[in-house]
Amino acid sequence: MAGVDVVVGAGHNGLVAACYLALAGRDVLVVEQLDRPGGGSRTEETIPGYRFDLHSAAHNIINMTDIPVELDLAGAGLDYVEMDPFSVAVHADGRRVRFHRSIEATLESIAEESPSEAAAYRRFLDTAVPLVRTVLPAIRGDTSARALPGQVVNAVRALRHQPLTTVRDVLSPYDSLLRRRLSSDLTRGPVAAFAAHAGVGPTVPGGALYAFWQAAYHLFGQWHGRGGAQNLTDALVSRLTSLGGEVRCSAPVERIEAGGGRVRAVVLEGGERIEASTVITAIDPKTALLDLLDPPLDGEAGADLAAARRSNVVQAVVHVATDRLPAYPGGRPGDWNGLQSYVDRLDDLSSAWAQAEAGLLPDPLPLYAFTPSAIDDGLAPPGQHTVYLACPAAPSRVDGGWAARRDDLVERSLDVLEARAPGVRSSVLGVATWTPDEMERVERWPGGHPMYLDIALDQLGPFRPTKRLGGWRTPVGGLYISGAGTNPTGGIAGTPGRQAARALLADQK
Ligand SMILES: Cc1cc2nc3c(=O)[nH]c(=O)nc-3n(C[C@H](O)[C@H](O)[C@H](O)COP(=O)(O)OP(=O)(O)OC[C@H]3O[C@@H](n4cnc5c(N)ncnc54)[C@H](O)[C@@H]3O)c2cc1C
Repeated sequence: MAGVDVVVGAGHNGLVAACYLALAGRDVLVVEQLDRPGGGSRTEETIPGYRFDLHSAAHNIINMTDIPVELDLAGAGLDYVEMDPFSVAVHADGRRVRFHRSIEATLESIAEESPSEAAAYRRFLDTAVPLVRTVLPAIRGDTSARALPGQVVNAVRALRHQPLTTVRDVLSPYDSLLRRRLSSDLTRGPVAAFAAHAGVGPTVPGGALYAFWQAAYHLFGQWHGRGGAQNLTDALVSRLTSLGGEVRCSAPVERIEAGGGRVRAVVLEGGERIEASTVITAIDPKTALLDLLDPPLDGEAGADLAAARRSNVVQAVVHVATDRLPAYPGGRPGDWNGLQSYVDRLDDLSSAWAQAEAGLLPDPLPLYAFTPSAIDDGLAPPGQHTVYLACPAAPSRVDGGWAARRDDLVERSLDVLEARAPGVRSSVLGVATWTPDEMERVERWPGGHPMYLDIALDQLGPFRPTKRLGGWRTPVGGLYISGAGTNPTGGIAGTPGRQAARALLADQK
């Protein structure tokens, strides 16, 4: 193939970018280092007979965008099932809060435990809803002037009472924000658990945005792909091939050749050279531009990128096959539909973050669970279940190394589960782990970081990965960057993929 558009990496962002290029009639080849596509949107039989998501399990952001509709992904097999309630706080002391898509139903649930806390949560959402609506166009990649009036209206709504207080709130770490705005750990714990799930620490200035993001789950819901996150990958691959594009797996890129200020080719490990008219990288942008690009990005742009941060705090996953759902005392139908938060106290999360940053396996271990087999019967044998446990504050580099700490991770996770669902240990049929060292080695995520770079305010939106590179273009002609480390954000969003493709298409006109 000569002169194709090459996309490096077949995660969902790479596949989205490739679909938009193919839709515009271009020849597209996606090269993927693993023998299967999907990256962080994969579902595999990690325990024989039981299918688990390896990473992403709940897709929120992509469902705020037009991408599924523009690419007609439903026509290519995409089938999202809503998780409602999107989250249930399963406190060890038996208290429960059910966070439904409906704000009213959520307030009723909180009021069962504490009417005053329900009122505080209502006031919190009164600020959070317009704030989320204000940043929505950036998350969706809608930068047109059409979005502006709506943004102004929503910003005014968010700021209308006590504007300086709201500005201060937005700049705060979410640890401080939640202490000020919610009255107890009844809701602080689970709201913080969701914010942590985004990969931001409780004491990071500006991290408040991720606590305010709670409103986005009420506005847009959380979604499970039928069959797992793989459903999104399969639909994207199917759409791409129907448009004439190609995905080539087991094709790791070793070098991106550039000369005379223009991208020329990608060279695979083993030496095969693929001539490219353009290249979009949909992998870690630091790896792409500082390690693979030949010659590497230099000057101020290179130095700026080299300085982009990733912390030592990432995620670790334990997959558990069981012969029944975890039996939470006082459980109600629907309690297993969404995320089940096991973070009882904000203090525990903040202390866990500090421990993980210092290379320790946190104690107590913050944890959340998904039980997708409760809403999708294709994941486990009839009557049996898949319990996905994730620690959002796991150290990338752990004291003693992950090989030595894997069993501790499993035991601590099962202890946390047992404390909420007594007897659950006797239902366990199999266990598998997916630790940061494996994510680093298998997925090629430096440090096992699923967003590649921290998603702090100064590395978000047009500042992601850096201000100079925040528009998906690079100083090298024909070379674009995409993926979780680029504008606007990480996670299952698709926006970085679509916007990189749009930048390329605009430049080709
Ligand atoms: C435990 C956990 C839970 C998560 N849960 C959620 C969730 O519920 N919701 C959510 O929105 N997000 C979640 N995330 C984050 C999400 O999975 C990632 O941010 C997202 O998958 C990144 O997508 P991407 O397409 O940008 O990159 P990736 O999915 O990382 O894809 C990049 C691809 O590039 C390939 N590649 C790398 N190097 C090369 C190379 N040299 N040559 C060729 N190919 C290469 C990789 O193999 C991979 O397939 C979670 C992450 C973790 C770890």
